[in-house]
Amino acid sequence: MLLTFEQAKQKILQAVSSIKLPNCEQVSLLDSLDRITAKPVISPMNVPSFDNSAMDGYAVRLSDIEHAKNLPVAGVIYAGDDVDNLHWPKGTCLRIMTGAVLPNEADAVVMQEQTEKSDFGIRFLNEVKSGDNIRRCGEDIKKDAIIVECGTKLTIPTLSTLATLGINQLTVFKKLNVAIFSTGNELTSIGEPLSNNASIYDSNRFTLRLLLQKLNCEIIDFGIIPDDPMQIKQALSNAAKQANLIITSGGVSVGDADYTKMALEQLGEIDFWKIAIKPGKPFALGKIGDALFCGLPGNPVSTLVTFYQLVQPIILTLSGQQRSSINTSFTVKTACDLKKSIGRMDFQRGKLYLDDQGELAVTTTGQQGSHITQSFNRANCFILLEQERGNVKKGERVTVELFNALLK
Ligand code: AMP
Ligand code: MG
Repeated sequence: MLLTFEQAKQKILQAVSSIKLPNCEQVSLLDSLDRITAKPVISPMNVPSFDNSAMDGYAVRLSDIEHAKNLPVAGVIYAGDDVDNLHWPKGTCLRIMTGAVLPNEADAVVMQEQTEKSDFGIRFLNEVKSGDNIRRCGEDIKKDAIIVECGTKLTIPTLSTLATLGINQLTVFKKLNVAIFSTGNELTSIGEPLSNNASIYDSNRFTLRLLLQKLNCEIIDFGIIPDDPMQIKQALSNAAKQANLIITSGGVSVGDADYTKMALEQLGEIDFWKIAIKPGKPFALGKIGDALFCGLPGNPVSTLVTFYQLVQPIILTLSGQQRSSINTSFTVKTACDLKKSIGRMDFQRGKLYLDDQGELAVTTTGQQGSHITQSFNRANCFILLEQERGNVKKGERVTVELFNALLK
C-alpha cells in the first residue's frame, strides 16, 4: 500500500520519539555555532548594566535647562570612565560620549548636532525632554531572564547576545553519531578509476557526507558494501554498535539484489514503505538495537529528496533541536507547463525568480527523472504538486518550498 507523504512523516515522528537524546557536553562559546542547547541559558545580569548615553552630546538636568538655554561645560565623561566621584555643579552641563555612564542626576542627553557652542558654553537649540538619548539599565536584557530555551540551534545573533552577557561556556547536546554506507556492486568511490564498463561513481555517499557535515553530525563511513546479504548484515550490525542513526543508499526497492530488507529482518525491526512521492517512492525505516535505520533509494535525486524531506527532520529531532521548522513555503504562479501524473505528490525542482513585472514566479529546471542530477543542480526550490493534481498549465498557482541552508 502507498503511504501519503503526511502519513510517512507521522510514522517517522513516532519512531523518533522512542529514541533517547544524546548526552550533553560543555563547549566554549566560540565552538558552539550550530550546536543545540541542552539547558536554558539564564541571563546573569542586566544589559545595559548601567544607564548610559546613546549619543555623543551633553548630559543635562532639566531644571538647569529651564533657567538658561546656555550652559557652561563642567567636565567630560568618556565610555569606560567611573563617575562615582564626579563633581557636577548646578547650572552646568557635562560633555558625554556614547556608552559612557550617565551621572545619577542627569535627566537627558542632548545630541551634539542639536547644540551650538556659544560664549557662555553650550546653547541647546531644541526642546529637551526627560529621558532623551538615555539607554536604561536592563532595557535590552533583564537579569534572570531566559535568553535561550533548551533545544535551540545556536546562531550568530544568539551567540552575540550571549557574548554581551560575558557567557563563554555552554551546555549543548553531543553530536549525533551517524553511520553511512552505499550498497551496490556497480559502485566505485570517487577518486578511483571506474572498475569496468558497468561501473558508476558512488555519488550518494559523498552527498550524504556533505549533508551530515552541514547538520553537524559525527560521521562513521562504512564505504561501499556489495550486494551481498552477509556483508550488508555485517555492516549493519557493526554500524548499530557505534551509531545513533544508520543511513544507507540503494537496495531498498524490489530488485533482485535489494538485500537490505533481508539483512534487517534478521537484525532488528524494519518497515519498508512505498511513499506516494516522486521522486523517492521506496524508503525503509527500522531499528537495530538502540540505533534508528533509514534506507534511502539509490537514484541520486531520490536520495537527496528523501534525505531533505524525511531524514533531515529526524536528525534535527535526534540532535535535540525543538520547534525546528525546516521549510519556507508559499504559492506563486508557474511560468511554464508542468507535467504531473495523478496519484503521487511531486517534489519537482524549480527556480524561483522575479519576472519582468517584479513578481515572483517559478519555472522548471528541466527533466525531472530521478537520475537527472542537473535538475537539482540548477534549482533553488521544490515545486510541491499535490498528490491528486494532474498536469499544471502555465499561469496556475503552485506551492514552492525554498531550499533551506542545508542545500546551499
Ligand atoms: P537501487 O535503489 O539500489 O535499486 O538503485 C537505483 C539506481 O540508483 C540504480 O541506477 C543505481 O545504480 C543507482 N545508485 C545506487 N546507489 C548509488 C550511489 N551510491 N550513487 C549513485 N547512484 C547510485
Ligand atoms: Mg542497488
